[in-house]
Amino acid sequence: MNLENTVKFHFAKSTMISDSPRATASDALTGTDIMAAMGMTQERAAMGYSAFLGKMGISHNDRERAIALLAEYALSKCDKVAALRKLGEGIKPLVMHQLATFAFEDYSRSAASVKQCDCCSGQGFIEADVFTMKSHYTMKLPQWAKDLKQSPGDFEVKRQVKEVAKILCSTCKGKKVVSCACKDCHGRGKAVNQELTEEQGVPVRADCKRCGGRGYERIPSTEAFAAVSQITDAISLDTWKKSVKPFYDQLIMKFDMEEAWAESQLKQITR
Ligand SMILES: [Zn+2]
Ligand SMILES: [Zn+2]
Repeated sequence: MNLENTVKFHFAKSTMISDSPRATASDALTGTDIMAAMGMTQERAAMGYSAFLGKMGISHNDRERAIALLAEYALSKCDKVAALRKLGEGIKPLVMHQLATFAFEDYSRSAASVKQCDCCSGQGFIEADVFTMKSHYTMKLPQWAKDLKQSPGDFEVKRQVKEVAKILCSTCKGKKVVSCACKDCHGRGKAVNQELTEEQGVPVRADCKRCGGRGYERIPSTEAFAAVSQITDAISLDTWKKSVKPFYDQLIMKFDMEEAWAESQLKQITR
């Protein structure tokens, strides 16, 4: 069985996972077998299995565990990068935890994910200047004016009033979040390729250029940099780009590798 198959067991009540007679011949594993297999996978591939469960939204604890394990791993490797090696002993673990947190967010993102709406900073509405015309009369219309059939408008003073109004954010339509799905391919990962289409004369779909076929936007690494800058100003944007970002990218990849490892362990255990 694979990791995907274990998901339903996390949502099942423990009573449902019992040694009930096998329904079909392909149902080769009993509930107890599966529980044991998941336990062994957790033991052998803690980071990858926790990361996977965290990604699937099984539990917040798994997410935290995966981040903690990656932060620990990062701490053991970061001295290879001069800029990170130079960080103070108290700062280093905080920076590693921040990097691991962003790495997890990036790793667990999919076309189905949502992110905070930048347009309204997650408020759902934006403040906008609204101009309205207001008017008042300079005086109560005097009798002589009435006699002369003067129009009240002659005594009316109009003025434009600026008010700050909260209006619904048009980007997220007030939902506070927007989809992470790629805007070009709408999460499909494939889009009509202009050049190939012209070349071959028929619509040709290829990996979407905007998202590289992933179907969703990755978290800009500058966001991770900004978060690290909140902890320490020892890393400049230049240093980030040159040496810390590659390290950060490795951390994201580490989750993918660990997940693959957990997958292979589970397969081996349940073979
Ligand atoms: Zn918005
Ligand atoms: Zn795309």
